[in-house]
Amino acid sequence: MLRIGCHLSSAKGFLAMGKEAVGIGANTFQFFTRNPRGGRAKALDTEDIAAYLAFAEEHGIAQILAHAPYTLNSCAKDEGLRQFAYDTMCDDLARLGHFPNAMYNFHPGSHVKQGAKAGIAYLAEMLDRINEKGFQATILLETMAGKGTEIGRSFEELRAIIDRVADSSRIGVCMDTCHVFDGGYDIVNHLDQVLEEFEAVLGLSRLKAMHLNDSMNPLGSHKDRHAKIGEGNIGLGAFGAIVIHPKLRELPFFLETPNDLAGYQKEIALLRQIAEAGQEGKAKEEKSS
Ligand code: FE
Ligand code: FE
Ligand code: ZN
Repeated sequence: MLRIGCHLSSAKGFLAMGKEAVGIGANTFQFFTRNPRGGRAKALDTEDIAAYLAFAEEHGIAQILAHAPYTLNSCAKDEGLRQFAYDTMCDDLARLGHFPNAMYNFHPGSHVKQGAKAGIAYLAEMLDRINEKGFQATILLETMAGKGTEIGRSFEELRAIIDRVADSSRIGVCMDTCHVFDGGYDIVNHLDQVLEEFEAVLGLSRLKAMHLNDSMNPLGSHKDRHAKIGEGNIGLGAFGAIVIHPKLRELPFFLETPNDLAGYQKEIALLRQIAEAGQEGKAKEEKSS
């Protein structure tokens, strides 16, 4: 069964998110660990977490994805900013220890004027320091659109980060469809080729999750403006191909489209329908061959 959900507000806690997810036909979800622009996290509510875990077990919500605030910049030249990114990520990862096999996604950051190489070195150094703490959550680097001086604009840049980390066994990648498309990877006409490239550069075993977003802008635009599924330049056909692709269909998928809950519910239903039709098609093929 397709594992799919969307980004939910964490304002009312974990049990509320679990119920909201199930209510819209999702079996996973993503949430911000704290205000996306940074700042303090709420105190942990252990009762809410216990209630959520029981609910999740009962409803088959397996692996959830936490998203770090997007203002963290672990590539920053300023040491204070890097320390802030490190402290925030450590705090988030410690909290995630309450959730078995949770994953933690973050934006690699922007190198501003120091060049990608220097930024990557800082980032890898931070990941080494985080690794020393022995957190259990898998950390995901998100593929970025390459806006400004964003790091992670290509599979090679992500590889460069991973290569510099002493122990990269708990580091994976989250592929955002809008970002890779804006970054110049043609997942509309050449999905297989893009996945072959990913395999060659990073290895598909690193790919742990996908963000499903259509893009308001054309291929290679480096803009990062999400659109609803089927309403942007990627188009519904490409999303259908992604959710039934043998190399992708087992991954958890997360929508970050500009939607309210009703809109997410529709997108989830639509993608489930496509995935199920794909499964039936495959079963028929096997029967007849
Ligand atoms: Fe993101
Ligand atoms: Fe994303
Ligand atoms: Zn984005």
